Amino acid sequence: MGGLITAVALAAALAAGPLDGRTVVLDPGHNGGYSDRINREVHVGGGMYKACNTTGTSTNSGYPESRLNFTVAREAARILRERGARVVLTRRSNTGVGPCITRRAAIANREGADAAVSIHADGGPAGGRGFHVIRPTLIEGLTDDIYAPSRRLGRVMRSEFQAVTGLPRSTYAGGDGLVARPDLGGLRLADVPAIFVEMANMRNATDAARVKSPRFRKRLGRGIADGVTRFLSG
Ligand code: ZN
Repeated sequence: MGGLITAVALAAALAAGPLDGRTVVLDPGHNGGYSDRINREVHVGGGMYKACNTTGTSTNSGYPESRLNFTVAREAARILRERGARVVLTRRSNTGVGPCITRRAAIANREGADAAVSIHADGGPAGGRGFHVIRPTLIEGLTDDIYAPSRRLGRVMRSEFQAVTGLPRSTYAGGDGLVARPDLGGLRLADVPAIFVEMANMRNATDAARVKSPRFRKRLGRGIADGVTRFLSG
């Protein structure tokens, strides 16, 4: 019943063009290329330093996370723009390196994003399946301003992403598909509602076969777009 009500409400919201005037920043995680420059340390708030960026994971057959993230981000952006949103991506191509994680957060803050979603896939244990959403923990002076709306964004994303993709909630990450973490620079530095989506476990054979399908990648994009849409329509 809850699912039906949700679907009806979402359909009504879509017909009304719910995202007019809203801004969404999508961050396709990592970089298509590699340079030593991505290893330099950047300050992610509260005295913590992290690498500017990392290379990300891949399937065992070599399909890289950075390309998956970029493809899904573009599909999600296309759908969100159709619904009236202004969408900004933190990188424009899947070649080269950059920007650093600090800059990606700054883009979302500068654009005054109503929602910021960093799009990733995990390199977890081979026996573990599924997706999880990461929200910020409460850190005084860093995430206290965005803690509550980010938690709501995370919850809404978890249910919409699962409904659209049919992927299970992570069997290995804990948290019933919604994990709070204190250490991600993109969440520590965000001044707007922000989450990460770890769409699947690329090191698991079943998940890897799904994400290598172009049709399924479109579905991943729609899952993210629907999560953002329902968050901004609620
Ligand atoms: Zn990643």
